[in-house]
Amino acid sequence: MLSVRDTEAIILNLVQPLDKYQDTEVVDLLTASGRVLATPVSSKLDFPHWDNSAMDGYAVRYKDVQDCSAENPAVLEIVEEIPAGYQPQCTIQQGQAARILTGAVMPAGADTVVMQEVTRREENRVFIQKPAKPQEFVRHRASYYQAGTQLLPMGMILNAPEIAVLAAAQCTQVQVFRRPIVAIFSTGDELISLDQPLQLGQIVDSNQYALAVLVRQSGAEPLMLGIVKDEPVALEQAVTYAIANADIVLSSGGVSVGDYDYVEQILESLGGEIHIRAVAMKPGKPLTVATFPSPHSPLYFGLPGNPVAALVTFWRFVQPAIKKLSGLAEGWEPRFVQARSRHELRSDGKRETYLWGQIILSSPSVYEFQLAGGSQSSGNLINLAGTNCLAVLPVGQTLILAGEQVVVLRIMNYE
Ligand code: AMP
Ligand code: MG
Repeated sequence: MLSVRDTEAIILNLVQPLDKYQDTEVVDLLTASGRVLATPVSSKLDFPHWDNSAMDGYAVRYKDVQDCSAENPAVLEIVEEIPAGYQPQCTIQQGQAARILTGAVMPAGADTVVMQEVTRREENRVFIQKPAKPQEFVRHRASYYQAGTQLLPMGMILNAPEIAVLAAAQCTQVQVFRRPIVAIFSTGDELISLDQPLQLGQIVDSNQYALAVLVRQSGAEPLMLGIVKDEPVALEQAVTYAIANADIVLSSGGVSVGDYDYVEQILESLGGEIHIRAVAMKPGKPLTVATFPSPHSPLYFGLPGNPVAALVTFWRFVQPAIKKLSGLAEGWEPRFVQARSRHELRSDGKRETYLWGQIILSSPSVYEFQLAGGSQSSGNLINLAGTNCLAVLPVGQTLILAGEQVVVLRIMNYE
């Protein structure tokens, strides 16, 4: 049985990121949120576009105001009013000033802005009562960046700040990686879909829904293929279709050692190379990972059927794989933080143990781990609600006392 760390390394090594030439599409800026840039974006414009004022005040020549004081103010003639968006007409001469507002273009001849608060105005004259520093409160053209400068690198995820940068640079469309396609199906004779009446012994297929949502949250497109019976022929058909039509395949169930667990056998009969058969973790021991000989082979994950185990293995292994595949240059690795446990945490110490709950930022800057109430059984889907992290107890550690530090895997993108 492989360790979690070795499993992670094998999986991430198998992931081939999308191709920056073939696997891209052009989308409108407004629909680009959450997408990954497939090409760097450079600015066509200088930023700021023009020398402009950082203050409401007066545009002046530094030499005219360098020696003034409250007792001996510089008295300047106001020759123009320049609101933002207006094109200045005058050139400021010695002894002159222009009234200027924040963001407005600096008039020719002026090199400095004096803030309104240190001035007094009388009709078309302004009294400057405090010396300015040379070039004070002028935002110079191209001082933030010049035309041609790279604004955003390839592989960056686009969220509101990046969209703002692109909008300001007048990029109406962007080239992004296509969303990876993740095929999902559930295996098991006992499974029924949500809309079927429940008969004795049956179980509602919740994994398909949970996995579809997780896939979408990870930036990929779920391809939901439904429920497949524990029958070799049906399974072979489903696997064949899935591997031909997806970048990643997720099946759940059928990877344990039960009499009806055929998934590994089918993968091998289709030429699959099995890289992982079981992982020393709890929950989530039965995990199968395979690839196929074709050049565009998807990565196949046979996840455990237990609803909690399916989610835990997704968070721990599948989510980073999807993110790496999607072209993200960084930030696809799992995120661990230290937290102070609010409870005693226990494990049998034999396998790396994942306990679910919430990470809470308690004042002043301490993370705390709140264990989900009720049973931490991998069949107990219900008490997963509210989960935003998993506490990790390494192999060999059987106890963490309340108040002690624990390593926590953060699992939500939005927090
Ligand atoms: P398996 O890995 O196929 O042995 O399934 C382990 C347990 O998880 C069994 O109790 C199954 O009924 C349950 N299970 C399997 N697949 C699903 C699913 N898609 N949704 C909910 N529970 C499932
Ligand atoms: Mg099963």
